[in-house]
Amino acid sequence: MFENTERTELSNLGEFGLISHLAKHFEAKNPSTLLGIGDDAAIVKMGDAYMAVSTDTFIEGVHFDLMFHPLKHLGYKAVAATVSDICAMNALPTQITCAIGLSNRFSLEAVEELYEGMRLACEKYGVDLIGGDTSSSRSGLILTLTAMGEVDLNKVTYRKGANANDLLVVTGDVGGAFMGLQILEREKKVFLEHPSMQPDLETYDYIVGRQLKAEARVDVIQILDELNIVPTSMMDVSDGIASELFHLGAASNVGFDVYEEKLPIDPQTVDTAIAFDLNPSIMALNGGEDYELLFTIKQADWDKIKNNPDFTVIGHATDLVNSYRLNTKAGNTFDIKAQGWQHFHKD
Ligand code: ADP
Ligand code: MG
Repeated sequence: MFENTERTELSNLGEFGLISHLAKHFEAKNPSTLLGIGDDAAIVKMGDAYMAVSTDTFIEGVHFDLMFHPLKHLGYKAVAATVSDICAMNALPTQITCAIGLSNRFSLEAVEELYEGMRLACEKYGVDLIGGDTSSSRSGLILTLTAMGEVDLNKVTYRKGANANDLLVVTGDVGGAFMGLQILEREKKVFLEHPSMQPDLETYDYIVGRQLKAEARVDVIQILDELNIVPTSMMDVSDGIASELFHLGAASNVGFDVYEEKLPIDPQTVDTAIAFDLNPSIMALNGGEDYELLFTIKQADWDKIKNNPDFTVIGHATDLVNSYRLNTKAGNTFDIKAQGWQHFHKD
């Protein structure tokens, strides 16, 4: 199947290069496979219904640090992050499965904490935990969640589908989860050096909450349905807007113009970024794990969303393929670089 004879480092391909390299050899053959690898979730036809399916893995030391991620929050966040990919297809989540690898560091009570968080998230998003797998692990905690959801075929949203002049919309605010992580990492360092010092998290409650208490925007899927809007393309913001824009643009064959002044950034994100000597707009573009939805709509749909404070138009699609531009407050134009999180990258 693969013809490589020499050793190739995964860092040469990066996460997305690796996925598309592998995917080339797995063409979908079943007529029920409407959409396979390459979007936020796959779409499978089940009689008259359509099912979105997506899997996510969370590995201790890579995706979370148990020094500051309470297990209950982690369980909740794992479900939220997985369900978020279902929302990205404009589907409503219905079921999840959870495979877990546990080292002997974990007690029954610890696993119960984790599952209490998952249960709360299941309740919030209206999903049933219907299965999974349990195994021992030699390298801490490993979680793999699969989420399923339902969507009408004429309402499925893909990464492809955006047209030039469509409005680019993001929900909620962005950059907060990343700045929250910076605070948690800073306080962890302080704690390791001075264990008697209490972490100062109260000042940063909103952004720390964005990092530790992630939410999937199932509510947005319901609102879009009520407003009778089917986005022309959609993704969830897990790796940062910049990185997601490249995915939407590449799949849709469009470019994007984004306006810095429109980026929805919480004041606490702004203040913290400045205190860290970071540019808040760059954090908003490149910070990951906000789990907001980024989508395009036809201009004609603008009236339907313009009064909803949860939706912000941050730019529009252009017919300049491969062009992703940030128009700054100062009136300059920069090329946006996708600096979002990617596994296997050298740096
Ligand atoms: P997300 O960030 O939304 O989780 P990913 O970038 O992880 O999306 O995945 C992009 C696409 O590649 C999805 O369709 C996913 O199912 C698929 N994919 C990722 N890893 C693998 C793998 N190891 N084998 C097969 N498909 C994969
Ligand atoms: Mg993934």
